[in-house]
Amino acid sequence: MAFQTLTGIVLRYTDYRENDRILSVLTRENGLVSVTARGVRAKGKTVSSNVKDAYCYGEFIVYERNGIDCVSSSTIIEAFYPIREDYDKLLAAAQIVRIAEKLASNRPNDELFSMLYHAFSFLAYGNAQPADLVLCFAAKFLALAGYAPVLTNCSCCGKPVTSEKQIPFSFKSGGSLCTDCASDQPTYSALALEAFRRMMRLEDKDMDKVRLPESARTELNKLIFDYAEYVLEQPIRLKNPKLVQ
Ligand SMILES: [Zn+2]
Repeated sequence: MAFQTLTGIVLRYTDYRENDRILSVLTRENGLVSVTARGVRAKGKTVSSNVKDAYCYGEFIVYERNGIDCVSSSTIIEAFYPIREDYDKLLAAAQIVRIAEKLASNRPNDELFSMLYHAFSFLAYGNAQPADLVLCFAAKFLALAGYAPVLTNCSCCGKPVTSEKQIPFSFKSGGSLCTDCASDQPTYSALALEAFRRMMRLEDKDMDKVRLPESARTELNKLIFDYAEYVLEQPIRLKNPKLVQ
């Protein structure tokens, strides 16, 4: 029987049969994989060393049986436990996972893995607002997915828009517009758009440095998610924020 070692972060899980659990794991080696962890829910069994919870980072020894990848053993590398102790952090992690899954595939993606690892580290142990980390993750996700909007110039004619205080934004042309090219598009503050631009370029290790003013956070919560849903042509907002694992 061939064994393989995978390291990855559990994105979500589904309970299966009486004691089993299927884990969806973003791995460094193979991208997004589903692995079956047998017996992890059995009462009275010591499973403390097993990686079985969402948002845990661990090492898995996996073997294949009848086309299914099964976990032989697993070790926690980082539990990110504080995420599960705070409702806002838990909600932010669920939203980050929902975004990450849009780019996850069965190919390794070092950039996505690093973004997720850093976002969870800061969510668990950092001081940034969970909402700001989510927006930063979403902005960096757009850049990584090749959907970075044009924000310093008009996305239609190329004229600089940085002297304006309120800047129109067009989903269709992929960014801000000058007053000549704008018609009835919604406008956003220059502050919010500048924060959006900076977050897209921020290195993973600096994600917890984002401190958005309340007004910019409100604006970007709408703009970044609406724009991402427009370019991806599918919803990425959590459907039911009250039902988090
Ligand atoms: Zn223009």
